[in-house]
Amino acid sequence: MKKKINMFLLGVGALTIILTMIFSVVVFYGLFKTEVFENLKTYAHVLESSALVDDIVNNSYSSNIDNIRITLISSDGTVKYDSYANSLEMENHGARVEVAQALSVGEGTSIRTSSTMKISTFYYAKILPDGSVLRVAKEARSIWSIFSKVIPLMMSVALGLFAICMFISHLLVKSFVAPIEQLANNMDDYCSISTYKELVPFINTINKQHEDILKNAKLRQEFTANVSHELKTPLTSISGYSELIENGMTNEVDVVRFATEIHRNSSRLLTMINDIIRLSELDVIDMQVQFEEFDLFEVANNCVNMLRVNAMKNIVTLNFSGEHCVIQANKGMIEEVVYNLCDNAIRYNVKNGIVFVSIHQIENDVILTVKDNGIGISKENQERIFERFYRVDKSRSKSTGGTGLGLAIVKHILSQNNARMELESEIGVGTEIRVIF
Ligand code: ADP
Repeated sequence: MKKKINMFLLGVGALTIILTMIFSVVVFYGLFKTEVFENLKTYAHVLESSALVDDIVNNSYSSNIDNIRITLISSDGTVKYDSYANSLEMENHGARVEVAQALSVGEGTSIRTSSTMKISTFYYAKILPDGSVLRVAKEARSIWSIFSKVIPLMMSVALGLFAICMFISHLLVKSFVAPIEQLANNMDDYCSISTYKELVPFINTINKQHEDILKNAKLRQEFTANVSHELKTPLTSISGYSELIENGMTNEVDVVRFATEIHRNSSRLLTMINDIIRLSELDVIDMQVQFEEFDLFEVANNCVNMLRVNAMKNIVTLNFSGEHCVIQANKGMIEEVVYNLCDNAIRYNVKNGIVFVSIHQIENDVILTVKDNGIGISKENQERIFERFYRVDKSRSKSTGGTGLGLAIVKHILSQNNARMELESEIGVGTEIRVIF
């Protein structure tokens, strides 16, 4: 690209130089031509007004001094006098452009260039009161001759300009490309790159993408490590208990106990694998969530009813209230959200605790509130509970069948359903989560 930009700039530079030179020569020659004709006109006028024409014809005035050729032509084209040649030997001049013009409109001009193209003769003719034509002529360099004369000078100027162009284009390209090259070589240290203002948005975007990629890579790395660790624990128990049974190192009572442990750990494993699969599904269907209109009140009511048995087991009262509100979202996903939030409110509650679930509409917002008076979450943990596998109290989560993935799934689903979540919690007082559609 560098080479391309350089070549392009040099091409534009060279073209500009050539066009400027041609234009200058043409303009200069135009001025020169006008000047010569003006001189010839003045000369002819002086000759006519001072009655020198008669002196010339009588050979008492020599125009050779001024290097001006004077010709007198009668109205029929016959040459009466010529200061450079014998008029008797000269052919009829009636058809000469300048003479014909003078005979018809009073004055005429023409330029004739010699066969060698070096010299041009400028002619000016004007009609005299007696009907004859006075023609004055002067030799001067032709445009080609002028051009060939100035070509060496022009070439050296052009070469000098071209060298300056090369230098400037090299500097320009370098200053355009250098920050991009530096950025490509060291994305992490983009602050130290000296750049120009138009490149700043580009650098910021690239840098943000770079940071996102690094962050995602780190998250994936952490996720893989977490998954391996989380899967390893129940699998180790299952493997250990089954090995004991296999080796016949157990009595009848132990077999039942070990089988219970194996069952509990494999259920836990299954729940976790289901959650992991759900999360990766959510990652994949990012763009193709199907929305429909449904009553959030009904969906929440069904979830609450499903969880009543769980609540009873945990000695927690479930309260449901609110109004019918229609929202547009993915029904299956929203069911998952309500279920997860209510399930957490039951599991992280205290004996005889209460969970309030309500649906309300405030202006254009439909709000789902899940409030408990359970154990609460400390300020520093409130920011982290949405991370995958993050649990405030690991043993409590495990004992209640938690995987640490529930809120990560909730967060993911809400962002895909254009909803947001607010959390208020205090240790020992309880937690309130509001989902705003
Ligand atoms: P888990 O499967 O462990 O419940 P979640 O992602 O659902 O995972 O929740 C993450 C953590 O947030 C839980 O382990 C728990 O410590 C905390 N948490 C979630 N909901 C509540 C709540 N209503 N009250 C107190 N702590 C909660």
